Amino acid sequence: MTKDTEQVQEYINNEGQFCPFCEEGDIEAISPMMIMWEDREASQLVKCPTCGKIWRDEYRLQLYDFEEIDPDPMTPCKSSLGVPTLL
Ligand SMILES: [Zn+2]
Repeated sequence: MTKDTEQVQEYINNEGQFCPFCEEGDIEAISPMMIMWEDREASQLVKCPTCGKIWRDEYRLQLYDFEEIDPDPMTPCKSSLGVPTLL
């Protein structure tokens, strides 16, 4: 178990609310959520203005929520994440 692994785990435990380098809570997303549909993975660049570090939050598909949905009026879920959609 390296220090880096602990650092990542702590960052995840804090739900990505604090800079993993200086533990400042004043961090900000500097890119839109980018989704790689092939890998079912999403990522977003985050910057800490305090120490100037930039890193990438990575998200993976964890579960699905099932409900009866009428697919006709449904907009592609990509758009709800602010990602340009190809129609
Ligand atoms: Zn920082």
